[in-house]
Amino acid sequence: MASIFCPRCKQQVDSQAVTCPFCRTELKAFGHPGIPLHRAGKGEYLCDTCTYHVDDSCNYPQRPTAKECTLYQNFEEYQTQKQQQYRKPSSNESLQSWVRQNQTLLLFVALFVVCLMIAAFT
Ligand code: SF4
Ligand SMILES: [Zn+2]
Repeated sequence: MASIFCPRCKQQVDSQAVTCPFCRTELKAFGHPGIPLHRAGKGEYLCDTCTYHVDDSCNYPQRPTAKECTLYQNFEEYQTQKQQQYRKPSSNESLQSWVRQNQTLLLFVALFVVCLMIAAFT
């Protein structure tokens, strides 16, 4: 079971919980477990760290002082995810990928070597 921390009381709760069982804070929007409701901490605004504020694509009326938002996406987390997606594969992964793409060629080379060995020893 995945869990999250309640933004108000900091207790660990089920990530699907619609409200916090400890302090009754609303954790999902419209009472739906699939719509997370993000909340800013004390004295903070969500927009300050939101991707859609950084790229200037948000047109919500509560921008730039949103304390609650269903669309919020943390800019730093988003950047980290993007870097992981586009990171250069390691040499081991590159080799594995090359072997997978050239399986037929490798099979023929192996057969050729076996034939050569048979010819050499007969
Ligand atoms: S999506 Fe929400 S948190 Fe992000 S900039 Fe717009 S209003 Fe602010
Ligand atoms: Zn709580």
